Amino acid sequence: MTKKVTDVNEYGEFGLIDHLTKSFGSTNPSTLKGIGDDAAIIKNAKDYTAISTDMLMEGIHFDIRYSPLKHLGYKSVVVNLSDIYAMNVIPSQITVSMAISSKYSVEALEEFYDGIKTACDFYNVDLIGGDTTSSLKGMAISVTAIGTIADKSKITYRSGAKKGDILCVTGSLGAAYLGLQILEREKQLFLSDKQMTPELDSHTYLIERQLKPEANKAAIEYFDKIGLIPTSMIDISDGLSSDLMHICKQSDLGAFIEEDKVPMIEEAKAAALVFNMDPITCALNGGEDYELLFTLDPMDIEKIKFMPDVHIIGEMVDKKDKLTLHTPGGSIHPLKAQGWNHF
Ligand code: ADP
Ligand code: MG
Repeated sequence: MTKKVTDVNEYGEFGLIDHLTKSFGSTNPSTLKGIGDDAAIIKNAKDYTAISTDMLMEGIHFDIRYSPLKHLGYKSVVVNLSDIYAMNVIPSQITVSMAISSKYSVEALEEFYDGIKTACDFYNVDLIGGDTTSSLKGMAISVTAIGTIADKSKITYRSGAKKGDILCVTGSLGAAYLGLQILEREKQLFLSDKQMTPELDSHTYLIERQLKPEANKAAIEYFDKIGLIPTSMIDISDGLSSDLMHICKQSDLGAFIEEDKVPMIEEAKAAALVFNMDPITCALNGGEDYELLFTLDPMDIEKIKFMPDVHIIGEMVDKKDKLTLHTPGGSIHPLKAQGWNHF
């Protein structure tokens, strides 16, 4: 009898993680939060450590043909720091591991590390170790970010939202995704005509959001300054729909988003139309924005009145009311979390 072979795509990213890790519980009392959030939380004698790892693969997460190595180094750090901020914790250390093929020269790796250094300086984190190994093809990068927090009550999980909580998002959405569409379009044109000069100058902001994203450190510092603790929080790495789904699932709730409240800059909206895409679809499913999606107790709403660049986009509701999008015309659409599927 042949053994059944299942394609990983049948599970998808989240299903696969659940499937492979379902038999792992935590037995150590110091494991306060294990798998299932932006970062794990470890209890120390006097404080708590948040720790998170992400991996970036050449050809899957980045294309070296349009991703300058300095930006790639910067982005590898930032996407990990973002997961620590999403726990309402300030990161303080990182480790960087990489597998590199022979096509990477010392000079190329110096550029990559230049980007890592720029991020360490800007976000005030220390590079404390890592691992280096060879790869047969391409580059793989794995960064682990670590932060500590003394006050347990300040840690924000995906699971803390309550019915009636207000749903907020920082910054604007969809720009990183549209930046990627532009880079991909120009790459295709370049591949078919090596004489052409890619037309990138008119979209520097969108492209920068894709190649050199920032984590929202300022929002976390602001929460601390005004004494606000969101009831739940996640960073938007996979797209608003997908990341909101995580909050809903873990908080055992539903949510609605008001379409006309979802923040998107004009340049991103215009780019969406050029690509024949609905702007709201790009904002909902684009991903890689690294903005913060969080919920607030309605009693705290006054506290964000003067917070820069934050938007109230919806509300947490009963689980039976599911996840929906309310359009300005009054219709209600179910929201589907697309996540990603690109094994
Ligand atoms: P994020 O998008 O915030 O980086 P992920 O979707 O990558 O989060 O991961 C969700 C949860 O699953 C996290 O707690 C993460 O540590 C855990 N996880 C992801 N991959 C694995 C794995 N291969 N083994 C164990 N845990 C994993
Ligand atoms: Mg995350």
